[in-house]
Amino acid sequence: MKTLIMHSQDLVMAEELSLILEGELEQRTSHFRIHTNNNISINQLRLTHKIDLNLLNKEFNFSKVRLLVSDMDSTLINIETIDEIAKATGMSNEVALITEQAMQGNLDFTKSFKKRVSILKGVSIASFETVYNNHLKLNPGALELINFFKSIQVKSAVVSGGLEYFAERLHRQLGLDTFRANNVEIVNNCLTGEVLGKVIDAREKANYVNELCNLYYLERNQVIAIGDGANDLEMMKIAGLSVAYHAKPIVQENCNIVINHSGLDSVIDFFDSDT
Ligand SMILES: [Mg+2]
Repeated sequence: MKTLIMHSQDLVMAEELSLILEGELEQRTSHFRIHTNNNISINQLRLTHKIDLNLLNKEFNFSKVRLLVSDMDSTLINIETIDEIAKATGMSNEVALITEQAMQGNLDFTKSFKKRVSILKGVSIASFETVYNNHLKLNPGALELINFFKSIQVKSAVVSGGLEYFAERLHRQLGLDTFRANNVEIVNNCLTGEVLGKVIDAREKANYVNELCNLYYLERNQVIAIGDGANDLEMMKIAGLSVAYHAKPIVQENCNIVINHSGLDSVIDFFDSDT
């Protein structure tokens, strides 16, 4: 028996889908479940219905989850931080173009990050605060998701191929357990265009998940990884459960849960167990 999780309040659509799949419809507080023995072509259903549809992974033990590792830019928050700094300082187009290519997986992440930071040479760190205060917003459901995980004693971490300034502030604002992101050199309150330390690329994100597993004495199948870009794929691969949030096609094709229409809090519904 398979269980399809449907994130919509549309009862008519739920009944229709249930009929098509010859399934049994179950209404939960914030979603529907359809239990069926039929084969499900999930990609086709997603295309036709334009709502979030996912199969419940019954091999995964949701009650054992102890760590959430989330990407920051365009996952937990609405912006690509480095693009926003570029916008605030009038160097928008060049930087945004490189970011988009990197997120699609078409460019070497480390090289592209260094290139973007070098373009920002001379930018004042005051622009960081402006971006944080005026342009950075949590994505829908982010706060609910973090608070839910806190309520069930799951630790949460943010990891970012963006800038540490933002990861650190978000970590404080949301009360996350820990964070990791890229450090850039600042002299006399201005970016020198140089990167400090290792660039947090796909490999480093996965290394960070392993590091946290060691720190908290966890197995990797106790970790949920959420992301949207090609540089999240490595950490998603090693986590017990991976979630693509409004993600690039390559990410959607390689993860357990795809969210394209609803907020991050829809992940909570997967923890709504049968018992
Ligand atoms: Mg991202």
